[in-house]
Amino acid sequence: MERWVRARFLPNRPLEKGHYVTACEDHIALSSRAACEGMVLLKNEEGTLPLKEGIKVAAFGKGLYDLVKGGGGSGAVHPPYVMTLAAGLTAEGVELEEGLLAYYQGNVKRQYDQGAVPGMTAEPSVPDALLRDAVKKTDTALIALSRFSGEGWDRHAPEFEDPAIHQWKEPEDMLRMMRQIYPDGDFNLTKEEKELVRTVCAAFRKVIVVLNAGGVMDTSWIRDRDEIKGALLMWAPGMEGGRAAARILTGKENPSGKLPDTFAVSLEDYPSTAGFHESPWDVEYREDIYVGYRYFETFPDAAGKVVYPFGYGLSYTTFARQFIHMEETPKSLLFDIRVTNTGDTAGREVAAVYYQAPQGKVGRPARELGAFAKTKLLAPGERQVLTLEISKRQMAAFDDLGKISPCSLVLEKGDYRFYLGGSVREAVLIDDYIYTETKDRVLEKLSDALKPNALKERMTSDGRFEVLPTGDIPDMDACVFERMVPGAEEAVIPAKAGRESYSLWDIVPDQKKYMLSDVAEGKVSMEDFLEQLSDEELMRLTGGVPNTGVANTFGAGGMEEWGIPAVMTADGPAGVRIEPQCQIPTTAWPCSTLLAATWNEALLTEVGEAAARELKENNLHIWLAPSMNIHRNPMCGRNFEYFSEDPLLTGKMAAAEVRGIQSLGVSACIKHFAANNKETNRKHSDSRVSMRALREIYLRGFEIAVREGKPWMIMSSYNAVNGVRASENRDLLTRILREEWGYDGAVTTDWWTRGEHYKEILAGNDLKMASGFPNRVKRALDAGAISMEDVKICAGRILKMICRLD
Ligand code: BGC
Repeated sequence: MERWVRARFLPNRPLEKGHYVTACEDHIALSSRAACEGMVLLKNEEGTLPLKEGIKVAAFGKGLYDLVKGGGGSGAVHPPYVMTLAAGLTAEGVELEEGLLAYYQGNVKRQYDQGAVPGMTAEPSVPDALLRDAVKKTDTALIALSRFSGEGWDRHAPEFEDPAIHQWKEPEDMLRMMRQIYPDGDFNLTKEEKELVRTVCAAFRKVIVVLNAGGVMDTSWIRDRDEIKGALLMWAPGMEGGRAAARILTGKENPSGKLPDTFAVSLEDYPSTAGFHESPWDVEYREDIYVGYRYFETFPDAAGKVVYPFGYGLSYTTFARQFIHMEETPKSLLFDIRVTNTGDTAGREVAAVYYQAPQGKVGRPARELGAFAKTKLLAPGERQVLTLEISKRQMAAFDDLGKISPCSLVLEKGDYRFYLGGSVREAVLIDDYIYTETKDRVLEKLSDALKPNALKERMTSDGRFEVLPTGDIPDMDACVFERMVPGAEEAVIPAKAGRESYSLWDIVPDQKKYMLSDVAEGKVSMEDFLEQLSDEELMRLTGGVPNTGVANTFGAGGMEEWGIPAVMTADGPAGVRIEPQCQIPTTAWPCSTLLAATWNEALLTEVGEAAARELKENNLHIWLAPSMNIHRNPMCGRNFEYFSEDPLLTGKMAAAEVRGIQSLGVSACIKHFAANNKETNRKHSDSRVSMRALREIYLRGFEIAVREGKPWMIMSSYNAVNGVRASENRDLLTRILREEWGYDGAVTTDWWTRGEHYKEILAGNDLKMASGFPNRVKRALDAGAISMEDVKICAGRILKMICRLD
C-alpha cells in the first residue's frame, strides 16, 4: 500500500479484513488480563480469599456501582462500557445480598442524576434494616471504596494547602466537589467511610475490602483491623475492572501484582509533602533522591511508617526465590534466580534484585532497585530460572557537587551488596556475592546541565540537609519583543495553512521537485528536501495543524504540495481518546500505575501494540503516551497516569510500551519531560531540583525509555526545571536528551504551553502544539534572535518522525 494512505484519505476501513479491531473482543480481553495482573492482594487471612463457591456476600459501599475506571483529563477515554464491581461479581457467580445491592445502585444513580460524575460521589450511610437483614444471611461482608483524581488539579489535602496562597482553582468544579466529598483530604477515609468500616466490621466476622483508587491512600486501617481479613487494591482498572477484580476474588485468577509505590500511614510521612504546596510558583525538591522507598528504607525513623512496602503483593500460592548463579561482565552483573512455585495453585511471581551501594562521600540510599523480572504462569512445583541484569553504570551515583569528580557518574570504593526480593522490605541479602570497587571510579564525565539556581538545600543519607550553591534566577518570561499575554496561548486552534492558491499540477511530482516520500524512500536527503521549502513553510511546519477525521488533539505536517501528510495525535495513555460524539468507543486500558504493578514488560508491549492498532484503524498516527513522571508525592493529581516512584520500573515499563506501539508504525510520545510532579499551576511552576536527583530519579526513567524504547516523539512538560521552562530548556532537550542520550526523534511541547515559540525552537523543541505562532517566530527572525537554520533543524526532525510512520 502507498505510504501515509490513512493520513491522506482517512479511509473508513477496518485494519483487519472483515472486522474492526477498535474495542474488539481481543483488546477488551487484553485489558481484562492486564487488569487482573496488576491488581494487588494486600491482605488475606484465614484463607478468606478466594471466596468459596456458593458463598453469600453482603456488599457495601458506593464503590460497588461507582467504578473509577481511570482518572480525569487527557487520560480519560470513552469505552463501549465500564464493568462495575457489582456487575463483575455477579457475572463471576458471587451471590450478593440483594437488598444492599439495590440500595447502592439506587443511591449512585441518584447522585449521577443530580450531577455527580463517576468517582465524585458521596458515601451514603447504611440503613439499619438492610444491615440487620444481611447479618442474618451471611458472616462475610465486602466494602468497596473508590477515589478519583485528574489532570490539572492535585488531590485535596487541606492540612498542607495554605488557602492564602493556594488559590489555583482550575478546574473549579472538580476542586469544589473534592472539598465537599473529602473535607479532610482524599488520602484519608471520610467520616462516612470510617463509619461504614466501623459498622460493617462490628457486624460481620469476615470483612473484605476492595479499593478502587488510582493512587496511594491510607491503608493502615486495613492492616490494623482484625475483622478485615482480605483486601484487594484494584487501582483504576479500566473498562473491565469489575470483572477482573471479581476473577481474583473468586480465585479464577491468581493475583501477581506488586506495589510500584510505598504505601505509608499518612501523607505527612512522605518527605515531599511539607513543601508540596508551599508556593504555587515553585517546588523545592528538598528530599532530593530520597523518593519513595529510597526514603523509607534509608532512615530508621521512617521505616515504621510504611504500611505496605514497595514491591509488596500477595498470591494464592507460595513461592521460593533462590539465588543460583552470578556472572560478572565488564559492564554488568548477571544474577540467575530460580523461582519455584511451592504452593498448590498456579501463579506468577516477581523476582527483584536491590542493591546497596557503599555510603562513601556522596551518600546512597539503603536500597535501590537494580533489576526485576516476572515468571511465566508456574504450575505447583514448577520452577523457572530468571536472569536479572544490573549494569554497573546504573549503580553509579551522579556526583553533582564534585565530592569525587564533578558532574560525573561515580562508583565509590567499597562493597556493593545485593538483596533478593519480593518487596524491598522482605528482600534478603545474597550472601554469596559482593561486588567491590577497590578505589573510587569515575565511569563517565557528564555535564552540569540543569544546574539548580534556587534550591538552597537537600536531604542527605544521614537525614541532615546539605547546603547547595545558588545563583541568579533567570527571567522565565524574557523575550526579545513584548511577551505574549499569559493565557492568550490557551486553546488556540491552529490556522488552516495560510498559503497562496497553487496549481493541482504542483502536487504531481515532476523531475525538479522532490516530495517527502522521496526522502522516506531514500531518493533524496532531508537536507536537500528542506532546501526546497520557503522560510514561511518551514516556520509553519514547527506548529500544529488542524484536526482531521476523528482527531481532537491536532496534528503535525499537513503540506500536501510537498507530499507531507497531516499526521494526527490522539491522547493516552488510558486508551485512544476519541470524543464520544464520534461514536467510536475505544478500549479503556487499566491506568499506568496498575500496568506498572504487573511488573511485566511483555504485557506492556502487548498493550502498546493493541493501542497502536486502534490508532491506526482510526487514521491516527501519534499516541500521546506513555506518561511517565515519577510518583514523587501521593498528592499529585495525575499520578494514576504515571507508573511508579521508582525510575527503573518506570523506564522499563515505558520502553516496553513504546516498543509495542512503534512496532505498528505508529509513534509513541513519552511525556511529560521532565519533573512535572504537581498539577497546581502546572504551566508556570518551577521544579527546583538538584542535578543529582534529576539524573538519578526524574530523568532516569526517560533515559531508559529513550535508550531502550527509542520513541520517535517526546513531549516536554509545562513546568520549568530550575528556572527555565521545559519546552525552552536547551540543557534538557539538547544537551542531555540529544547530546548525551543520543535521542534522534522529535520533541513536541505539551499543549498550549506558556513557552515562547522561538525560544522553544532554540532549545530543540521542534513542534509547538496545539498551534505554532509562525508570526512570532518571524519577528524573532527579523530581530536576529533566531536563524532559519534553527527552524530548519526542527522542521527536519518533525519530517523525519513523519517518515518513520507507516
Ligand atoms: C496534557 C497532555 C495531553 C495534551 C493533549 C495536555 O494538557 O498535559 O498530557 O497529551 O494536553 O490533550
